[in-house]
Amino acid sequence: MAIRILSDETINKIAAGEVIERPANAAKELIENSLDAGSSRIEIELFGAGRKRIRISDNGMGMSREDLALAVTRHATSKITSFNDIDNLATLGFRGEALPSVAAVSHLTLQSHQRDSSSGWSMKLSGGVIRESKAWAGSPGTVIDVAELFFNTPARAKFLKSDVTERHRTLRIIEELAIAHPEVSFHVLSEGKSVLTAPKATTLIERITDVLGADFAAALIPVAVEHPAVHVTAFITRTENSLPTRNIQYLFVNRRPVNTGKLITHSIYEAYRENLPSGRHPGVVIFIDIQPSEIDINVHPTKREVRFAREPEIHDLLCRALKDVLRSAPVGGFSRGAPPAEGAGGSFNNAPSLDEQESDKGAPLGTTFGRKPHAEFQRPGQEHLFAENRGRYSAPVSPSASPGQIDFSMLLGKGSNLRSLDQVFGLYLIVQNGEDILIIDQHAAAERIRYERYMTALKNKKIPVQGLLLPLTLELPASQDVIIRENLPLLKEAGWDIEEFGTNTMRVTGFPSVLGTDAGIKDILDEILDALSKEIRIPPADKIERIIRSACRASIKAGESISSPEAVRLVEDLFQCHAPYTCPHGRPTFFKISLADLQKYFGRQ
Ligand code: ADP
Ligand code: MG
Repeated sequence: MAIRILSDETINKIAAGEVIERPANAAKELIENSLDAGSSRIEIELFGAGRKRIRISDNGMGMSREDLALAVTRHATSKITSFNDIDNLATLGFRGEALPSVAAVSHLTLQSHQRDSSSGWSMKLSGGVIRESKAWAGSPGTVIDVAELFFNTPARAKFLKSDVTERHRTLRIIEELAIAHPEVSFHVLSEGKSVLTAPKATTLIERITDVLGADFAAALIPVAVEHPAVHVTAFITRTENSLPTRNIQYLFVNRRPVNTGKLITHSIYEAYRENLPSGRHPGVVIFIDIQPSEIDINVHPTKREVRFAREPEIHDLLCRALKDVLRSAPVGGFSRGAPPAEGAGGSFNNAPSLDEQESDKGAPLGTTFGRKPHAEFQRPGQEHLFAENRGRYSAPVSPSASPGQIDFSMLLGKGSNLRSLDQVFGLYLIVQNGEDILIIDQHAAAERIRYERYMTALKNKKIPVQGLLLPLTLELPASQDVIIRENLPLLKEAGWDIEEFGTNTMRVTGFPSVLGTDAGIKDILDEILDALSKEIRIPPADKIERIIRSACRASIKAGESISSPEAVRLVEDLFQCHAPYTCPHGRPTFFKISLADLQKYFGRQ
């Protein structure tokens, strides 16, 4: 086949594959352009979860008629002139790829009025081809309207998730950009309804409050580090305000929202590690301002990754700053102006290397980092694997035990031979059952029992609901509110009485009593939200099962001590379950050592 140069249309469509994966990416690129244009007010409208329409209006510097045509041309940018400019970049964009990419896979309308020109201009494109170009009488600024995203790339459209998920992701990105730019006023409408209003703020904490909610903001303590080469401002939760998921961890490098990545994640967990209970996560909002020459943001087309030139120093600086503030954190409400981290100033050049830091990563069992108690730490696909096995017995992990070898008759009923020997490491029960010793993971077992009771109640359509004397009010970020709101019927079916209570606010009045006391209701809901936000297109029945599974996990508190009769009860209950061998998330519930194993080992047989 002859070699030929691809048409611009084809090239842009291919590039769109890299940069514009879903509505959220398109929204991000367009909002960044509005920010780069010096706007002080940005309005975002989403229809059909951004699939049908994303419309961004700003009051920035605008574009001339000539600029409009250039803006949708590949590698056309007003932000850099040569590669070296990247080292001193003051803008979010620089690749000149976003608009042509979005244009290639949508029906795009650009309307713009340059600030000091007398009139504006508008341009319409379809699949990257200009269809119309005419004068426009709008006020100064730019309106970009993206309709029918992926209309000409059905394969890409097919990969999109449900509306709830796409809406959630888009709102999450908007929230990040809004946090990073408190000086800009943001207004977001989803399906015609106002979901986020963040007026121009003068402080970061004011903006964090508007976006993430007053409850969360009130639990934060400030961190500040001044250093010649780097400046860190952070807001972090106290150890006692830890969260059940890692969802509220934000990192901004030079005001660009980026993934926390291995390095920063490690320094955060390292700072918390002495005090964070297992399975808990800090909430953090971290702003790192650093000389652009000290970082590489051109690692990935979507610019979600950042590489630091001096990784070990950044790691140490951040870790030490967080640690110092956590150690001296006053108990009580939000307080401003904590002293900058001690010694932070000098640490940039003579900090221990990251290699040294990492060497102790997996070692002590008591640390939080390196543990894998949560779904997000699970091997990819694992959850799915076990979901398929649901209802059937999974093979136990114990080397010798097989399902048939457990003598249930001895465990149950009058002739029970069950004897609790001890609880070790605050976690495992040692139980003797006739000629077997069972080492039982107390929490995995409790989770299994609770899960089966809950599922049975669901099947019988009789989930007992416990009313809350004092209803719990949940003030949520728009990206999370949307998930609860759209899953209200399913939550109801799963025994949750939740009602809308104003913009981004929900009121919980009842919860499934199978979950025990109401002490951890907020955490349980966080966990459910987390599970629902990772949802792929699954049938409602599976979604309810997922709600129940997450609720059960979150409702079991680690480190609880247990009396000997309670332990026996627990084991008896476990072996009444349909699938006693694993917890609902697929971890084994017990390990068996038989008398025969012992005799073999000690050479008595
Ligand atoms: P980049 O942002 O990397 O330069 P884009 O494709 O996103 O590339 O945008 C191309 C150009 O279009 C920008 O460099 C900018 O000059 C112009 N532009 C895009 N959106 C706006 C806007 N909302 N206001 C003013 N100018 C804009
Ligand atoms: Mg751009």
